[in-house]
Amino acid sequence: MLNIESPVLPLEGRCQCGEVRYRITELPLSLYACHCQECQKQSSSGFGLSMPVKRDALEFSGIEMKLWKRKAESGNDVFCHFCPNCGTRLLHESAADAPVVNIKAGTLSNAKWLSPVAHLWVSSAQTGTVFASDAIQFETQPNSFKQLREAWLAKYEESGV
Ligand SMILES: [Zn+2]
Ligand SMILES: [Zn+2]
Repeated sequence: MLNIESPVLPLEGRCQCGEVRYRITELPLSLYACHCQECQKQSSSGFGLSMPVKRDALEFSGIEMKLWKRKAESGNDVFCHFCPNCGTRLLHESAADAPVVNIKAGTLSNAKWLSPVAHLWVSSAQTGTVFASDAIQFETQPNSFKQLREAWLAKYEESGV
């Protein structure tokens, strides 16, 4: 029997100052940590946490976020949304109005249950980083996110969410 704390829907989150808030009404599609240098800069920490969520299952409220764009390694744009008041990054997407977007999961009001199923860019992970033994590790970027979604579903299927 797995002993994991299960997410309770809807999931709620907000920026650091609370001016931007959101709700997630369906189980997210995965959760992974990225240790690339862009994510280290963005989080000013060891890694970024990405939680892919269907846009249809996501509701934002409060003030409008600001947008900053950067190029990914692939050459594609990454659309980065943040609170204009406190600067907290809340959302990344690969295109404007993409059907699946990445919530920066550290902004969830309850982040205690979070356990990434995979680690990306472990080749640039900080020396002190500890990885869960059951998490999948990728040296750089995975070719596909299918494995990450399957690992996530396997984890929460039994929890009856
Ligand atoms: Zn804020
Ligand atoms: Zn990254």
